[in-house]
Formats: sequence, C-alpha cells, structure tokens
Amino acid sequence: MFDNSVKAYTQACEVIPGGVDSPVRAFKSVGGTPPFIERGEGAYMYDVDGNKYLDFVQSWGPLIFGHCDKDIEEAVIKTVKNGLSFGAPTELETLLAEEIVEMYDYIDKVRFVSSGTEAVMSAIRLARGVTGKNDILKFEGCYHGHSDSLLVQAGSGLATFGTPSSPGVPADLTKHTLLCEYNNIENLKKCFEDSDDISCIIIEPIAGNMGLVPASPEFLKACRELCDANGALLIFDEVMTGFRASLTGASGLLETKADIITFGKVIGAGMPVGAFASSKKIMDHLSPDGTVYQAGTLSGNPVAMSAGLTSLRKLKANPSIYNELNEKALRLVNGLKEVANSNNIPLQINTRGSMFGFFFCENEPTNIKEVGKCDFERFAKFHHEMLKKGFYFACSQYEAGFISTVITNEDIDACIAAASEVMKEF
Ligand SMILES: *Cc1c(COP(=O)(O)O)cnc(C)c1O
Repeated sequence: MFDNSVKAYTQACEVIPGGVDSPVRAFKSVGGTPPFIERGEGAYMYDVDGNKYLDFVQSWGPLIFGHCDKDIEEAVIKTVKNGLSFGAPTELETLLAEEIVEMYDYIDKVRFVSSGTEAVMSAIRLARGVTGKNDILKFEGCYHGHSDSLLVQAGSGLATFGTPSSPGVPADLTKHTLLCEYNNIENLKKCFEDSDDISCIIIEPIAGNMGLVPASPEFLKACRELCDANGALLIFDEVMTGFRASLTGASGLLETKADIITFGKVIGAGMPVGAFASSKKIMDHLSPDGTVYQAGTLSGNPVAMSAGLTSLRKLKANPSIYNELNEKALRLVNGLKEVANSNNIPLQINTRGSMFGFFFCENEPTNIKEVGKCDFERFAKFHHEMLKKGFYFACSQYEAGFISTVITNEDIDACIAAASEVMKEF
C-alpha cells in the first residue's frame, strides 16, 4: 500500500541526495519509506498511493489553517496574476509588517527574508553589529536553521565553545558560538564568565526542536538579566512559535521580553517567508539606513506576502482560535496519555497553544540530554503503526506536533482510538 511512494522514493534518490530536500523528511529516525504526498485538503493529506492521513505536521508548522484554506488560496491566486516577483518594493510587504508590529509593543520594524535560517542568521549579524561583540550563545537542543555558526555540538570536556556538528563547517566559524545546557542557569552564568565578548543569546523560548520543551520562566529571566548586565541582546527565535503558541507567539505567554524576534513558518502560511524584527533603535543599524548589510533577491516576495497577510489577518480576526486549538491539543495528548497509562506505558505530554509534544519516558524532559533518554524504539513503532492507520505524526521524537483549525474533535478521538489499538500491541 506504499508501492507508489517506494517507487517515487527510489526514483528521487537517483537525482536528489537521500531523495529529499530536507533530511528529516527521509524518515531515517523511524525507518521505512516516506509517503510521497500528492495533495492536501483541510486537515488531511493524500499520498501517491491514495492513502489518507490526518496531518499533525502541517508542513512542520506553517499551515495553521490546514491545507488549501480558501481565503489564502484566493489571495495567492489574485497576487500571482499580477506577477510573481519584481525586486522592487510592494505595498504587501508594508501591510504584513504592520500586522506583525501591531502585535508586539516593543517591535517597531520588520525585515522580511525567505526562510527561518536566513532570519536567524541576519538577526545574529544585526546583534553583533549593534553590540560590536563577536560571540553568540546558543542552547543544546535548540534549532535555529542550518547556517554555519549555529551547527555546533558540545566540545570536549567542560569547554563552553562548541565544535562543528557537521563536516563542511570550519571550526573557525563555530569558535564564536558558546553552547549551554537549556534550563540550566548555573551553566548560563558560567558562559558569561568565560566570555566578555557575547553579542547575544539566541533561544527558542518554547523549544520545539527537541520535542516540546518549554524554558522555565526563571531561566528566561536569567537570560534577560545576564544580557542586560553584559551588554548583550536577547533573541527569541520564534520561527516555530510565532503565531503558533499564541497570537503573540511564545512571547505572549512569557514575562521576559526579547530585543530581537525571528519569525518564519506561520507568517508565510506555507510560502517561503522568514522575518526578523526589533525596536527602531536596533533596526536602524540595518542597511540601507545603517551599516549592517543584509539583502535578498526574493525577500518580501509578493505572493508569499499575500499568503502570510491573509493568514495573520484571519488569526487576528479570530483570537479565540488559540484557546480552541489548545483545547484540541489537550484533548489529543490527554487521550494519548490515558491510553498509555492503561497499557502501563510511561508517557510525558505537553502543549502550548496549537503545539503539542509527547515523550515515551518516565519524567518530563527539560533539556536535550533528558530527551535522549526517552524510548526511541517505542516511538518509531508508534509512528509507523499510526501512519499505517492514517495518522501522520512528525517522524521523530525530537519534533513538536501541530493542531490546525480544521482538525475536529472527531478527528482527534479517532486518533486516540487508533492509538489505543496500537499501544495494546506494545
Ligand atoms: C524551522 C526553524 C528554523 C529554520 O527555519 P527554515 O525555514 O527551515 O530555515 C529556525 N528556528 C526554529 C526555531 C525553527 O523551528
């Protein structure tokens, strides 16, 4: 029943490395062949074998209104008819920037780019340009895109500076990246003792790339205080959580405020869009007003802007969406937990707005090391069996899951019923 996907995958592997354009899509951590998708409709996706899936991945976050939302579709088609790209300013960019600026009282200006990776990379350059400092501090388990200086892993012993986590990244390019344990205030303090050249802390305030692992309020407060005391800027990477965790992202759920926020995913509604935003004072350093260089041929692409604009306006017109999404997220994870409990399977669950996470382990993980102790074999089995039953979960325990507005309680109950059959066999 995956015959056409297997064929498509084999064919893809001939001409595309690993058959995919982003590694996670290859299903390496759960095994098997990834379904090749033909089309989406509302809460569902259909693969090239005609299998139907309830989609909890949502293109890894962007599709908060599900597939083929009529309003977004209409806006995009209308814009396409006027031309795909001009390399000149359009009013759509201003309109989308206004929507974002209006949401945060400490954001005055936004610059659009084409991906989350680009947004973070540019935000870090800006932070370095503004502070005149070189080092950056990131946390183990947080993902900020695939740019060189962020592909770091813990070095040997107690060194706080990271070493490259991928061949092709010279150690010279990661030697300015300090690596700290998430939710570990002592470790954080030590980093600031080890370097007086820290330009910024970059953090996912609600981490979604090691499963769903929120930072504690005290930890974020410590980040803020250490930045202030050491002349560094605090960057919240909200590429995933922006307009996902709440209408004002993770920031809206937290007391601590950042200096720079990066966006992606939901603000493009499925089109390639990223953005970084800050106060006027900081953004004025960016070219052409200032001296920190940043550019992009397709940045602020009108078609992508119209998708994002329609999506954000819909969200703002229906702020209660987030409560409804969170209720559904809770219905799902509580249901899964009940099923797991009745089968004596330890399961940890969490939600933030429309985001959810679950771990097959005894205690709730607070950092990547603890996530690593979860039962990955069990997760792989769960994933595979649920996929066969038509439920498309992220293919790794290191990923968060997402609820879209078109997923119904009936969908969720069907998923829990399927999980109940699957976990009985564990
Ligand atoms: C997805 C993601 C990125 C990278 O965005 P791309 O569009 O894949 O380049 C960066 N940071 C976070 C927190 C993400 O979730």
